[in-house]
Amino acid sequence: MGKFYVTTPIYYVNDVPHIGHAYTTVAADALARYWKLKGEKVCFLTGTDEHGLKMQRAAQEKGITPQELADRNSEQFKRLWEKMNIGYDDFIRTTEERHMKTVSAFVDRLIKADDIYLGEYEDWYCVPDETYWTETQLLPGRLCPNCKRPVELLKEPSYFFRMSKYRDPLLKHLDLHPDFVQPEVRWNEVKSFVQGEIRDLSISRTTFDWGIPIPNAPGHVTYVWVDALLNYISALGWPDDPEGKFASFWPADVHLIGKDILRHHAVYWPCLLMAAGVPLPKTIFAHGWWTNECRKMSKSLHNFVDPNEMIDQFGLDAFRYFMMREVAFGQDGDFSVTAFKGRINSDLANDLGNLLSRVCGMISRYLDGKLQGAPDLQGIDRELEQGLATTDHEVELCFNKFTFHKALTVIWGFINQVNKYIDTTGPWTLAKDPAKKDRLLTVLFYSAASLRGIAILLWPFIPGSAEKIWEQIGLVPPLVGINRAEQMPFKTFAPKSLIKKAEPLFPRIEV
Ligand SMILES: [Zn+2]
Repeated sequence: MGKFYVTTPIYYVNDVPHIGHAYTTVAADALARYWKLKGEKVCFLTGTDEHGLKMQRAAQEKGITPQELADRNSEQFKRLWEKMNIGYDDFIRTTEERHMKTVSAFVDRLIKADDIYLGEYEDWYCVPDETYWTETQLLPGRLCPNCKRPVELLKEPSYFFRMSKYRDPLLKHLDLHPDFVQPEVRWNEVKSFVQGEIRDLSISRTTFDWGIPIPNAPGHVTYVWVDALLNYISALGWPDDPEGKFASFWPADVHLIGKDILRHHAVYWPCLLMAAGVPLPKTIFAHGWWTNECRKMSKSLHNFVDPNEMIDQFGLDAFRYFMMREVAFGQDGDFSVTAFKGRINSDLANDLGNLLSRVCGMISRYLDGKLQGAPDLQGIDRELEQGLATTDHEVELCFNKFTFHKALTVIWGFINQVNKYIDTTGPWTLAKDPAKKDRLLTVLFYSAASLRGIAILLWPFIPGSAEKIWEQIGLVPPLVGINRAEQMPFKTFAPKSLIKKAEPLFPRIEV
């Protein structure tokens, strides 16, 4: 049995959760569920990033303490993940004792290794992004290249991490591990960034105090990005590892991130880990950005897609499905309500929902809901079972490559194969002839067994609906914890209860 450790970024609690957060988290959830069902030991970590000047200022404006603001907003993320059926294994908050202990121990280790020195930092600082920029990186008019807001010139005594020392080792690592940063276009971006000059990284701030103190350096708190990145190992209990989690799960199999935080994850993070003598994560995967009806989402336009609203209007699994299916993971994509409704009606209601209600309806009508064995097996049946096996194999390849949209395309290929199988075998005709009873039994048994395979394959993406399919074909939920390998071959299909047509899985939406 292997292990799988997947993380989302910890979300900054100054934000209200929007589609960007939901997207990364649903992708991580799909990965975690997939490998869990495969029998791997999985850790899926998410959480919230709660320190920094931006939080301190936002709390001041609201007349509350930063901790109160962090508590309140962190809860919003937890509530959304509950609503979205996100099965994370751990939720880390950077204001937790366990996290702060790791950060102090990590910085202390770098100090002892002489990888940290005191200097003076002066540069252009973007407060909303908590990021320093050099003069050359700024946009005309001294605007932040990331968010296009004005930046401030800040000068302060600061501790520096000798990041420049790790430039060559990082370049070597990139060359040896073309999968370290994905997709390839991001690997290229990181490579060319690292090939340029890498400056030492300022890792402390003295202009505010809402952060984790640098050991033995009064007035200095840890730069919020160093603080935040360490969540990936603090949640595992580094360095003491009292529960053995670090030993079992590190290195991370994949850090899922948005492309806006690529540099922090693919440059700062590996350099910091190398300095501390901690192995590097296997993969950093940066996905693209969503636009809303072809317009960039921004605070000033107030046009962030609100996951709560989408779920209330269209249903949770439709929303989860759409995000994973509509756009190739790694590329930018557009959120459009028309496209969303189209997917619901064609893929979910028509292809999948109709298949389920057809099969359950016929089993109920022709066989009183009772299914046993396949007494009259023919070539087309074996082809169907082979189709599921091939699909299963291809989906695994997709999960290994994080190509969720392809996995779903492949699964829908099989759904269409089953639909065609029913059209070809024509159970409604078989049902009219008592002499063809064995053939009817076989066809309906194979159709329902196919639906079991489909439920297993879809569970990572739309767990709630997969459980409903499971139940409708007479199996006992939950799906989690099943022996997946045993439940794929058709011969092991054994419904526990009567099969009958139920409420449609995905009602059609008015266009
Ligand atoms: Zn900015």
